[in-house]
Amino acid sequence: MASQGIVEEFLSLKSGTDADVLTMQCGDFYEFFADDAELVAAELDLKISQKSAHGSSYPMAGVPVDDLTPYLKALVERGYRVAVADQFEDESGDHYREITRVVTPGTLLETDDADARYTAAVVDGSTDADGDIGLALADATTGQFLVATAADADDALSELYRFGPVEILPGPAVRDDDAFVRRLREETDATVSLFEADAFAPGRATHRVEDQFGSETVPSVGLGDAGAAVRAAGAVLAYVAETGAGVLPSMTRFRTFEADDHLDLDATTQRNLELVEPMQGDAGDTLLGTIDHTVTSPGGRLLREWVTRPRRDRSELTRRLDCVEALASAALARERVRECLDGGYDLERLAARAASGSADAADLLAIRDTLGILPAVADAVSDSRLSESPLSAVVARPDREAAARLREELETALADDPPKTVTQGGLFQDGHDDELDELLAHHREASEWIDTLAERESRTHGLNHVTVDRNKTDGYYIQVGKSAADGVPEHYREIKTLKNSKRFVTDELQEREREILRLEEARGELEYDLFCALRDCVADRAELLQDVGRALAEVDALASLATHAAGADWVRPDVVDPGPLRIEAGRHPVVEQTTEFVPNDLRVGGVGAGAGAGAGAGAGAGDGIDAEGPPDDADPGFLLVTGPNMSGKSTYLRQAALITLLAQIGSFVPARSATVGVVDGIYTRVGALDELAQGRSTFMVEMQELSNILHSATEESLVILDEVGRGTATYDGISIAWAATEYLHNEVRAKTLFATHYHELTALADHLDRVANVHVAVDDGQGPSSAGGASPRGVDDPGSDVTFLRTIEPGAADRSYGVHVADLAGVPAPVVSRADGVLERLRGDGAIDVRGSRGGTDTGDTHQVVFDLDAGGFRTDASVDAGAASTDASGAPADNGRRPHPNAGGERHTGGGVDPAAESVLAELRGLDVDETPPVELLARVAEWQAKLNGKDPDGE
Ligand code: ADP
Ligand code: MG
Repeated sequence: MASQGIVEEFLSLKSGTDADVLTMQCGDFYEFFADDAELVAAELDLKISQKSAHGSSYPMAGVPVDDLTPYLKALVERGYRVAVADQFEDESGDHYREITRVVTPGTLLETDDADARYTAAVVDGSTDADGDIGLALADATTGQFLVATAADADDALSELYRFGPVEILPGPAVRDDDAFVRRLREETDATVSLFEADAFAPGRATHRVEDQFGSETVPSVGLGDAGAAVRAAGAVLAYVAETGAGVLPSMTRFRTFEADDHLDLDATTQRNLELVEPMQGDAGDTLLGTIDHTVTSPGGRLLREWVTRPRRDRSELTRRLDCVEALASAALARERVRECLDGGYDLERLAARAASGSADAADLLAIRDTLGILPAVADAVSDSRLSESPLSAVVARPDREAAARLREELETALADDPPKTVTQGGLFQDGHDDELDELLAHHREASEWIDTLAERESRTHGLNHVTVDRNKTDGYYIQVGKSAADGVPEHYREIKTLKNSKRFVTDELQEREREILRLEEARGELEYDLFCALRDCVADRAELLQDVGRALAEVDALASLATHAAGADWVRPDVVDPGPLRIEAGRHPVVEQTTEFVPNDLRVGGVGAGAGAGAGAGAGAGDGIDAEGPPDDADPGFLLVTGPNMSGKSTYLRQAALITLLAQIGSFVPARSATVGVVDGIYTRVGALDELAQGRSTFMVEMQELSNILHSATEESLVILDEVGRGTATYDGISIAWAATEYLHNEVRAKTLFATHYHELTALADHLDRVANVHVAVDDGQGPSSAGGASPRGVDDPGSDVTFLRTIEPGAADRSYGVHVADLAGVPAPVVSRADGVLERLRGDGAIDVRGSRGGTDTGDTHQVVFDLDAGGFRTDASVDAGAASTDASGAPADNGRRPHPNAGGERHTGGGVDPAAESVLAELRGLDVDETPPVELLARVAEWQAKLNGKDPDGE
């Protein structure tokens, strides 16, 4: 009968939850029934048995109560939401069950993984006054709570990508937007969960937020009443509450992201630069993998946060750099600090466990020990040269007295080696609680009576071979050897005969036994209550624990940066705002790890960079940071990087981006010296080939990325273009690249590095005043490709001029839909129509004017160049040029920096220039129909191309 009730109870609980799977406690097991049993049996290899109820038979599978966690984890990792119903006893002693938790990816607390596990809510506020997309991210395992506002879907996705949430709750409008939901799924890898729409309602959400964080929170963070971000925050809180994770008390702080403090890094750029995730291969090949020498998981999490959210505020960067510098130069103190940190546990996680009531005594001991690390680290700082750095302030930030008090409390309360279960006593030290002490005294007394019983009995009754023991079935008993068993006194009652002995009990012994059991039960209950009280009191100090955890994490992250800087010979960058990017003998931070890297120089100045400076370079070299950049008249704002395949162009570009990014997280950089002007964003578009794997039309993606850059980048940004227009026919590609170059140069005016195999674009440098050509030189010998060696390259590099492009031939497969796709992808209209114009001229063998002056595209000076089919390159049409030059007089003063035309009319084939072999390989590659070509032939073709590229093909040159 009872068993029928159980299946019924299960099915009725199941119908009341929207979880995918239910598991229900039945005594010492968690059971799955019916479909759920089939499901877990299939997913987790659990054995299935049959349970009959109501004359039908139900599949059933179960796991022991203590073993549920790994099954929960496995199910959640496979994307199921699992409801857990626990067993309770009512007053009359009957059992009933209730769902206490619904475990979802974002609320799975039982994780060993050091990474954050964010649940994100996404609210489209377009019907609100503010019209933005609101984001809230809560990490149930650490209590981190963040809110942000994004301008649009792309922006929201870059923000999400950087936090890598495991679960996303789309708000009411978002969930109806199929395209957005698909992108959420694909671009973040998160599970998308639909949560009740009411929770996103402005009024309810605001209440939730105020309940959790206080009523001043919403106004104080300037998010606007009931704006999209607040709605998202309220929904996440409601979700965490509803899943029963019980960690809300550990969410003590509401952090907002002010975009102004942070660098704009879209998701594409985060991926392209391989900040935390490799495009392929091994996680060690990422920037984070390279610089992460942290010794604690919170330190690792913080460093990851820094890498994905570089900053723009120089004061914060200076503070971090000061710390890194101090730590980098004081090796012994640094090692001491790191040794102290090494034993630390994850305080944020522990605080969340305390709040959810899942912390055991070992967890509280871990808190005790980790709290003890703070004073040790503080001592290591104050006893050394580090004391003069801002590290002193970092370790002084938490309330050290409160931390010491909590530590003391835990130290005097808890036994040193407590049991794993918290219900059986043995958790506390003497003196922690009077009532407990009294119980223990009674217990000791009773135990002593039992311990000495054997001796007393044998003495009083003259018995040999007497022992007193206890086991589960018999309880306490007196065991007497066979030979003496006949002589036991009257009041002994025999309970068992063994081979060589008999077991007896007496009334007195049984009474003592009852007393001991009663005491043990009372002790277990009392200790459990005391433990819960202690745990609650720890949970109440979640904020303190988070402060201490954060301070230790920060020291860990800074020490990690210092460790890498010292080991890899990095230097402190001069961070200037605004200012140019100037790198002397720079290296790629990741590539240099595994390669004999040839250092190279770079100089690129923004429009705003160094404006009005005039102060000499190196002024204020003492603190290493100049308020104003050195004058940058000499620095071009736009570098066209050319060079054959595999010569290091892509590496050079990424290196520039990574050095900028490193400086903007407060790290040293791989260079002999570096000046880094703060940028507001880094935008990249890298290699169409890499996108192939994603199965999207590569050219469409390329154009979407270009479009995003042209729309988003500003004068203060760094733009990295690694090939543009490559995914389409040559003429289209050149036209688009041409128009984009002009637009970036004239309108956007960002610091730009553009690597291109369209060597003809180098002609632009002759006419656009801020554009300079650099090329990647190639060693003739066996040595590695060289990106220019140590000589500064730039403006007048003689090796950089126009060479020919043999593969451009009239009538080449030219489908010329490229410009149209650019238009579809949202590339700004002026660029599209300009590309059309250039294309027309190219086709018609006509003269193309180079647009570019500070004033705009049409009003300024123009030059004309003509594409020369015979030579395969552009030549300046002298007559037209001369005519156009007359308008030059109206040019802005800054145009005085105009460069002469190096090598006008001349050609150099050495080193620079597009590799004709590469171009012909590419042409073949473009024409190849992958679907129609058998794999074996593909292999053969690839081998052929490789041979060509390695110069083994007679057609190669
Ligand atoms: P490209 O973009 O010109 O085709 P890559 O930047 O992809 O060339 O570089 C080609 C190879 O050369 C890569 O394996 C890279 O690691 C290596 N490389 C690039 N620059 C350097 C350098 N300065 N020193 C040593 N190796 C380099
Ligand atoms: Mg490349």
